[in-house]
Amino acid sequence: MSAPSSSTDLQYLKGIGPRRAEVLQEHGIRSVRDLLLRFPFDYLDRSRIMTVRDLRKVVVDAVEVTVVANVVKVEARKTKKTHRMMFLLSVSDGTGTLSCVWFEGYRWLKDAFAEGEVLALSAVPVFDRYGKVQFVHPQFDRLASSEADEPDWGKLFNTGAIIPKYSSTAELTAVGLDSRGIRRIVRNALPRVGASISERLPASLVGSEQLLPIHRAVEQVHFPPSWKAMGEARKRLAFDELFFIQLMMHLRRVAVASQPGRRFDGPTPMADRLLASLPYQLTGAQRRVLNEITADMRSPRPMHRLLQGDVGSGKTVVALLACLRAIDHGAQAAFMAPTEVLAEQHAWTLRRLTEGLGINIRSLIGGQKKRLREDVLEDIHQGTANLIVGTHALLEGAVEFADLGFAVIDEQHRFGVEQRAALRKKGADLDVLVMTATPIPRTLAMSIYGDLDVSTIDEMPANRRSIRTAIRTEEQKGRVYEFVRSEVARGRQAYVVFPLIERSEKVDLKAATEAFDELRIGPLNGLRLALLHGRQPSEEKERVMRGFQEGNADVLVSTTVIEVGIDVPNATVMIVENAERFGLSQLHQLRGRVGRGADQSYCILVSNAPLYHKSLKGMDPAEQKAEENRAVRRLKTMEETTDGFKISEVDLELRGPGEFFGTRQSGAPMLTMADPIRDRDLLDRARLLSGRVVEADPHLRKPEHREIRVHFEEYYRDLFDLGSVG
Ligand code: ADP
Ligand code: MG
Repeated sequence: MSAPSSSTDLQYLKGIGPRRAEVLQEHGIRSVRDLLLRFPFDYLDRSRIMTVRDLRKVVVDAVEVTVVANVVKVEARKTKKTHRMMFLLSVSDGTGTLSCVWFEGYRWLKDAFAEGEVLALSAVPVFDRYGKVQFVHPQFDRLASSEADEPDWGKLFNTGAIIPKYSSTAELTAVGLDSRGIRRIVRNALPRVGASISERLPASLVGSEQLLPIHRAVEQVHFPPSWKAMGEARKRLAFDELFFIQLMMHLRRVAVASQPGRRFDGPTPMADRLLASLPYQLTGAQRRVLNEITADMRSPRPMHRLLQGDVGSGKTVVALLACLRAIDHGAQAAFMAPTEVLAEQHAWTLRRLTEGLGINIRSLIGGQKKRLREDVLEDIHQGTANLIVGTHALLEGAVEFADLGFAVIDEQHRFGVEQRAALRKKGADLDVLVMTATPIPRTLAMSIYGDLDVSTIDEMPANRRSIRTAIRTEEQKGRVYEFVRSEVARGRQAYVVFPLIERSEKVDLKAATEAFDELRIGPLNGLRLALLHGRQPSEEKERVMRGFQEGNADVLVSTTVIEVGIDVPNATVMIVENAERFGLSQLHQLRGRVGRGADQSYCILVSNAPLYHKSLKGMDPAEQKAEENRAVRRLKTMEETTDGFKISEVDLELRGPGEFFGTRQSGAPMLTMADPIRDRDLLDRARLLSGRVVEADPHLRKPEHREIRVHFEEYYRDLFDLGSVG
């Protein structure tokens, strides 16, 4: 379905022309409608605008304020001590002159400003050492290229209008379409809202939910006459995003339910044997989710289930029991992990758990030797491999299963919808169990993974102890390692983890190896240290891990290899170096490696996060500030709670739904207005109402659903097809 307006309508819009039209097109903006549907990412908060003269009065409040002023002077200087370039900007608003300073991003800033242009600058004002008020690393937004330009800005400020900010790129900026330029063309496009954007929801629904009509919402989100109007516009647009994503989930569910499935409802001798041989009783929660999974597997409809549970809640054994049920019926099972290291560890754990059952477990990962790989592929193809553990490599064309009946996908949010679809192609009537160790609140999970059934392990095995968490700076590391020594003296073991960034594995590895040597001859001198890293051959990794498990080493120094899988109850200390480099869920996973025995355990996060900007050199100063804040938030959250559900809520908030769930997974391009955490009520409503539509009209054929169908076909059809292949 194509728009009534063609791409040429954009070119002839006032202020655009062929050159800009071309660049806009490269950014996916092909029509006036596309332009209008690109919403502001923020607004200038006029209520926080102050004069330069009044700034001194609010320094004590330490809150962010905004100044509207024009550029008087642009200057670069070397700092006295470090001889690094710093960047100075003087601005004036007629009541006084304010100096702004940047210590980073000089290269980026030096061409950014012109004398006379009007900026809105936001920062927390501080005194410099001469007692003058200063902005350090302010955020800024261009309002006009000179005071003479766009004289209505002054009026806008005085009339209380709210000014939108638009995100731009280097290419757009080069043709004059920075935030200000975009603002101008959007304003020119605004009279065409009615002609370019049609209603996507039935009038009855818009009415009953008290939503703004779509064209009003689009107008008001760009140039809201008041904050209230902005809120209403945002609500309408957020509702639409959530409604259509939920609609897609409901439609997918209908599609999956109509596919053929298979029954695994015969006897399960191997699963029974494993269950009987476990050294512990399953928790109530494990038994409950196992029953849910078993019920799915026994029924003829294909399983599509999410298993979530906190780190250490015992998901692996549940998943394995389900795999064994499939294997007991002569089918193959696959266990898929997001990285090679995790796949290897899963293979290791699963082999150990299934010893004596006589099943053949093979692992398939990238980077295997050709002969080994061929042997594994042959085993998979012949059906002599019962349980296959691997990475994305499992999805490659060369992998042909004899009879894949069951698949476990670990760490869901790293897999996109495409991968799930590719996996489905490997086995026609496959049962799929998706596992995540980053639990999210149940209602939210149901809403976001709307096309999956959800099982939650909400209970920890009884033998778990709480873990004390502390943040320490680099300078305090001496004491941290003293503490390690004292724990080792009491017969305990410890982990020391260094970050590893996949992009430069070699460099990081070198860093880990050097750090290992430093620890060995330095603060941990005399203790028995072992080193574990991702580049070791599997056998060596296994040897090192087993050695640590058997108590042959006091301290295991490692890269993030140990994130999942390793299980040593006697280890009571987890030291994480450069902790600001780790994601929140990773930190939570790491901490989950201790506290598995009867003794008090500790997790120490070593970081100079507030000084973190050193490693963010060259980044846009505003972005840098934001990343610093996020790093501090992550560490503080770890200190405050051990509740995995809370942690993943913060994680979701910090990373945003797009990154958290993977771009495709959430349909992130469409989640620009809605925030599944903040808009939870709206989400529930959208889910309910879209569910009613699908229930009444599973193919969207009824005339009253025409608007919905048109919008869905245009914006969601591709995404929907991706998820329902197979
Ligand atoms: P998850 O994968 O959910 O993070 P694991 O499956 O790795 O957790 O389990 C963590 C540890 O708890 C493993 O050592 C496992 O053997 C053990 N475990 C699992 N279930 C129980 C239980 N019901 N009682 C005691 N220990 C258990
Ligand atoms: Mg696990």
